Amino acid sequence: MKKALSRLLAAEVPVVEGESLKRHCTWRIGGLADLFIEPRSVEEIRLTVEILNERGLPWVVIGRGSNLLFDDQGVRGAVIKLGRAFSQVSFDGETVRGCAGVWIPSLARRSASLGLSGLEHMVGIPGTLGGVIAMNGGSLRQNIGQVVDWVTYMDREGTVHRLDGSGCGFSYRSSCFQDSSKVVLEAQLSLKRSSSVPVREEMVQVLKERKAKFPLSLPNCGSVFSNDPEIHREWGPPGKVVETCGLKGLRIGDAKVSEKHANFIVNLGEATSVDVMSLIRVVRRVIHDVTGREIPCEVRYVSPSGWVVALHKSL
Ligand SMILES: Cc1cc2nc3c(=O)[nH]c(=O)nc-3n(C[C@H](O)[C@H](O)[C@H](O)COP(=O)(O)OP(=O)(O)OC[C@H]3O[C@@H](n4cnc5c(N)ncnc54)[C@H](O)[C@@H]3O)c2cc1C
Repeated sequence: MKKALSRLLAAEVPVVEGESLKRHCTWRIGGLADLFIEPRSVEEIRLTVEILNERGLPWVVIGRGSNLLFDDQGVRGAVIKLGRAFSQVSFDGETVRGCAGVWIPSLARRSASLGLSGLEHMVGIPGTLGGVIAMNGGSLRQNIGQVVDWVTYMDREGTVHRLDGSGCGFSYRSSCFQDSSKVVLEAQLSLKRSSSVPVREEMVQVLKERKAKFPLSLPNCGSVFSNDPEIHREWGPPGKVVETCGLKGLRIGDAKVSEKHANFIVNLGEATSVDVMSLIRVVRRVIHDVTGREIPCEVRYVSPSGWVVALHKSL
């Protein structure tokens, strides 16, 4: 660890030792990352990955941490955050090119102001372009994959590749970038010519509905459970299933199933990853007892050894 740290420092890559991960996720939960790195260029990402691989240190790449549960034990390796340094966007006609750290709500708003349609459903998603592509995020039965022309990513060896949208393995809340070996760097999206007034109006409506439905005043991670088609057919969307099972308001420690929307777990103040995982375990067990099915999680868990998986796979 020390050697990796001194090499990163020598190369002037921005690195912090023992950074609290609470500051880097919307749930405000998590221990310390041994190394927390915020590269400023693709070259710095390459150098970082090279140094970490050489030392055999695990690493994980994150955006805004709006879909992640960090463990209370933190990460015994490195967390690489692609943030503001990767927020360049350029528009050319109906195409938009953006770097991985682009903040999705502002990308949606800028597109609207240019009269471009296609990101209305994303205006309330508090993530980065890299994170949204990795998650194939979206709402209102739409997802980013539907407008992706191509994505560039770096593999674990530091080589940059370009993949067409059709090669990104986009499916419901999933893509080929979730296997932790690919760092999304940039993407080109193809939007549709419209005019700014109706696009803006739709965004205002989307935000209004989300504000009314979601518990946005407490730290949360968006939808905890994902939509399982079999469960949905018989029981409805995940929030409805949790509610039908009488689990709304259930609390363990400071983690609580939201009273406002049962597919959200809110942090009442000092929730730990143990609280959240225990609560999810109970909710899944009751849902299994009632429906006979295992409900999957949309939220991803970052283990102390640096692997990232859909949370239910770590229970
Ligand atoms: C209030 C709230 C509402 C939400 N509403 C929605 C919604 O409507 N629809 C929806 O889909 N999601 C929603 N989410 C969840 C979340 O915002 C999305 O999943 C978003 O795409 C995550 O982006 P992020 O930058 O925060 O990624 P992170 O949470 O940091 O990471 C998520 C995953 O992407 C990977 N990743 C991140 N960046 C990269 C990169 N550059 N290269 C490779 N992999 C990367 C991480 O390793 C991790 O596996 C919501 C969350 C909150 C808190």
